Amino acid sequence: MKTFLTSTLLLISTILIGQTDKKIYDIINTVSSKRIKNDIKTLSDFGTRHTLSDTVSTTRGIGAARRWIKSEFDNISKDCNNCLEVFYQKDLVKKGANQRIVKDVVVVNVVAIQRGTKYPNRFIMMSGDIDSRVTNPNNYTSDSPGANDNASGMAGTIEAARVLSKYQFDQSIIYVGLSGEEQGLFGGKGLAQYAKEKKWDIVGVMNNDMIGNIKGVDGVIDNRTFRIFSEPIPPTETEKQRKSRRFYGGEVDGISRQLARYIHKTVKTYMPEMNPMMVYRLDRFGRGGHHRPFNDVGFAGIRIMEAHENYTQQHQDIREENGIKYGDVIEHVNFDYAAKLTAVNAINLASIAWAPPAPSEVKIGGIVEPSVKFKWKKVNDSNILGYKIYWRDTTSPTWDHSRFVGDVDNFVLDGIVIDNFFFGIASVGKNGHESLVVFPSEIFR
Ligand SMILES: [Zn+2]
Repeated sequence: MKTFLTSTLLLISTILIGQTDKKIYDIINTVSSKRIKNDIKTLSDFGTRHTLSDTVSTTRGIGAARRWIKSEFDNISKDCNNCLEVFYQKDLVKKGANQRIVKDVVVVNVVAIQRGTKYPNRFIMMSGDIDSRVTNPNNYTSDSPGANDNASGMAGTIEAARVLSKYQFDQSIIYVGLSGEEQGLFGGKGLAQYAKEKKWDIVGVMNNDMIGNIKGVDGVIDNRTFRIFSEPIPPTETEKQRKSRRFYGGEVDGISRQLARYIHKTVKTYMPEMNPMMVYRLDRFGRGGHHRPFNDVGFAGIRIMEAHENYTQQHQDIREENGIKYGDVIEHVNFDYAAKLTAVNAINLASIAWAPPAPSEVKIGGIVEPSVKFKWKKVNDSNILGYKIYWRDTTSPTWDHSRFVGDVDNFVLDGIVIDNFFFGIASVGKNGHESLVVFPSEIFR
């Protein structure tokens, strides 16, 4: 009776406060910078992890690296009663596919799936990259430790699997090491294609690429700020959607942008010491990353990375020139910062995987009326507490206003004029976790 009361009170308080879940703090505290350091060292010590490098050696090259990553996922799985499905996903890329593929190569990704109990085919994904490069992108023999780019993202992904495998989730989580990034995003393309063929319902991809550098080439030292890159709208949008956008809005409200806002909010709530910086663009100016191939086929995906890069320490031959030490060596990686960004990923994977799915068929109305009307399709899930309407000034990057409206499939927001705000709706779970916000896709009168 006492435990029932206690748990009921805890549940009610979670709902009333509507924000924090103790498990999320436990996850943050469990992420280990020491284990991340060990894994970055192990990855750096493979000499080179260039996509075209040796695949036979047990100590050097990308073959040894991916076998080690798979064995780590296998070990994690053993410790959680085989909770991970670990496998290689591979594609042959032919010589001449672009200028950086100078011989036929099998691009191999290492995938670990932690299957959700309610939604085995709905996924939230965290990725890092296996491969590395030096100054000449086609040099596949020189030492290329790629400690920050991108052993840091890979180590973070393995550590997130270690921490989250101790929990069970409603939705599935994928931890993946992608290859072929530096040669032209081939691993991401391969896995995005594979996901389409398998009809995976991917809620979002969190691509981690360089999460360990705190000393920027701009002279700034900052272990708090990190960037979340997201494209404004999916490249797959139709002509009809494009035309509709002109009249009803949505140019800063694509699915990847909602994922970025979700991460921003979770971090502001649970890791107030961190400074998440949303950047309203696909990626750095003119440069690429492994979330893009997923965006290309219509999945939400964002890039998480340090705020201040150091270009003397990425894609460089290891050397000293004019007193500057070039090269992506482990000495430059800040493991505590990498652990913080790993925790950023882990708590968002957990929140999304614990939340009910978002409502669908979200419609909005209220033209020339003093109120805004909403209709949506409810989610059939025992964890549903209800739905929350979010809105914000059209110039605001974050969902600043919200109203919980209960377990209903329509609502009228009185006294709010539709013209002056942007709106969205999220599902709220009894466990306090919320889905991503859905921007209305249809209008009704
Ligand atoms: Zn790179």
